[in-house]
Amino acid sequence: MSDYKQVIYETPAEHVARIVLNRPEKRNAQDTNMLYELNDAFDRAAQDDEVRVIILAGAGKDFSSGHDMRETGHLENQAQHRPVTTSTAFHRPGAEGRMAREEEIYVGFCERWRNIPKPTIAEVQGRCIAGGLILIWPCDLIVASEDAQFQDVTLALGIAGAEYFAHPWELGPRKAKDMLFTGAPIGAEEARMLGMVNHVVPRDRLQAATLDLAVTIARQPTFALKAAKMAVNAAQDAQGRQAAMTAAFALHQLGHSHWMEVLGLPANPAGAHQSVARHWEPGKGPTWLPTKQKGA
Ligand code: ZN
Repeated sequence: MSDYKQVIYETPAEHVARIVLNRPEKRNAQDTNMLYELNDAFDRAAQDDEVRVIILAGAGKDFSSGHDMRETGHLENQAQHRPVTTSTAFHRPGAEGRMAREEEIYVGFCERWRNIPKPTIAEVQGRCIAGGLILIWPCDLIVASEDAQFQDVTLALGIAGAEYFAHPWELGPRKAKDMLFTGAPIGAEEARMLGMVNHVVPRDRLQAATLDLAVTIARQPTFALKAAKMAVNAAQDAQGRQAAMTAAFALHQLGHSHWMEVLGLPANPAGAHQSVARHWEPGKGPTWLPTKQKGA
């Protein structure tokens, strides 16, 4: 695969690859083809010895509105691509096929990207919702513009959070619960204070600042970068990250199966039709912010 339709692959500086989600008219909603193109682009950057640092960005106003809820023909679309994990039986009925598909294109992809032995940097502007979060969380560093907002609204759809359940590791357990329970967005500066974001910059400086960081890191010895990344990732894994995420993924699948039993749908669309996200500020009571987001 090299003729990408929904991502752009570029090399904006020596030793730096930049992968751009390029579906701005749909706020970079991710369908099956985009995710396979993204995975291929990550592989290309990982396998190119000239590339030392990888940036993941999104074209347009928003980084990503999440998974494309309007996609149809998921299985036919997936059949166009060779699986990259050991999950199989995507076409089988019931939970078996659904779980296999989500093992492949969500948690499987995210885990692969997390373990690329080169530094990865997410460059985030505007809205980054649910499925958008699970693209940036596998990255090593996150640079956000001042207008960036991070939100997981899947609980309103009756599902306990996005598939790659890194929330407690990214935000700490208490804030993770707050984010999930309320569905409220977290602003860029708050995300930085929580340790989820490394740097916050003005919107018009985002691309240059991220590239500057990438170029700076690219000057470091490649093997030491790989070793440092592996050492930090191992620290998380020693704390049980993968086991906890496996349990969360099973609960996520249980949520889909629950709604199939109750409604014959993998989630409760009433949550999406609510079209509101609760934004709660101490002392001010709840206010309801309009959101058109459909991705989850
Ligand atoms: Zn799911």
